[in-house]
Amino acid sequence: MAVSFRKPFLVGKELENLRLSLESLHLSGDGPFTKRCHDWLQAHYNCTVLLTHSCTAALEMAAILADIGPGDEVIMPSYTFVSTANAFVLRGAVPVFVDIRPDTLNLDERLLEQALSPRTKAIVPVHYAGVSCEMDTILDFARQHSLFVIEDAAQAHLCTYNGQALGRLGTFGTLSFHETKNVVAGEGGALLVNDPAFVERAHIIREKGTNRTQFLRRDVMKYEWLDIGSSYLPSDLIAAVLFAQLEEAEKINAMHRAAWARYHEALAPLEARGLLRRPTIPVHTQHNGHIYYVILPDAPTAEGLFHVLRKQGIGATTHYVPLHSAPAGRRFGRTIGSMAITDHVASCLVRLPLHAAISEAEIDRVVTAVDATLMNASAVSL
Ligand SMILES: *Cc1c(COP(=O)(O)O)cnc(C)c1O
Repeated sequence: MAVSFRKPFLVGKELENLRLSLESLHLSGDGPFTKRCHDWLQAHYNCTVLLTHSCTAALEMAAILADIGPGDEVIMPSYTFVSTANAFVLRGAVPVFVDIRPDTLNLDERLLEQALSPRTKAIVPVHYAGVSCEMDTILDFARQHSLFVIEDAAQAHLCTYNGQALGRLGTFGTLSFHETKNVVAGEGGALLVNDPAFVERAHIIREKGTNRTQFLRRDVMKYEWLDIGSSYLPSDLIAAVLFAQLEEAEKINAMHRAAWARYHEALAPLEARGLLRRPTIPVHTQHNGHIYYVILPDAPTAEGLFHVLRKQGIGATTHYVPLHSAPAGRRFGRTIGSMAITDHVASCLVRLPLHAAISEAEIDRVVTAVDATLMNASAVSL
């Protein structure tokens, strides 16, 4: 029996909402379901939230709102998804890659000073696996040097740092509702606008550079081209699916966390023997069980484990090809100092199957396979 690496979890109401959405005949963006998603998100985040068709789109909007331009520099981890960097490269900016912390795999805030230049305009902390970056230090640094903080909270829906929601700490935060995240719309995302001064322009950028939102609110008689922008809003059909999911978001996250905790407990003995490293969750953070990973001592051991798991039909996968070593990253970016931890994690991290509906028996099967492989390997090397 195969164990899927990931599977989107349907809560049951998606189809009914889709039917209602089709019947409403409001199929374009900002219809009744988008409004319900906005209300839900704004109630939970207590700020202006704009639905987008992806987290990528939300990052692009943030880059425009922050007036990022040619030659500006944006500090970010290299161990992240391409959109973190691409959104800024599209504006002509240079992503400046720094290494990650060995514990949370998040941007190492101690490297910010070294990465700073007169061209630095923003920092993009990525909350990997829904575990918060060290935000106090990052926000202090940004304040001292008048930098924007744009949180890539793609994986961190409803996670917290010192009790504050991730995505709410920087000037902007971005969420993803892509099929691979906990809460899904197929493709979807949101921009959190934490400074009210940017709200009006955010609406304009999202509506192709026009004040169509004002027009729909009947604040103006006709709408016109005012600024640069694009079509960043999702169809109301997407919002219909998302709204069903949002209503169950806490439950979906709780299911992820339960699966995560079962792995974490079962794999503790292997960590105690030094055969792998488990994720670290700082005490002042709450995560959403988005990813369970283990870090093996070296690349051959990780590859050996992949091989065994795949042979047993267990979906396991690595994660990012670091951006600093990817062709476009080398072309558009700049790297600060050593990338030793990023490179090590890229070749030694193994993500185990995890989704809301994974069964305890499936988790136990994965753990047994990991256990047998690593104990076997260590016996051979002795
Ligand atoms: C998933 C993800 C994105 C992109 O999200 P989309 O909604 O697919 O655009 C960006 N950054 C990180 C860290 C992600 O995990």
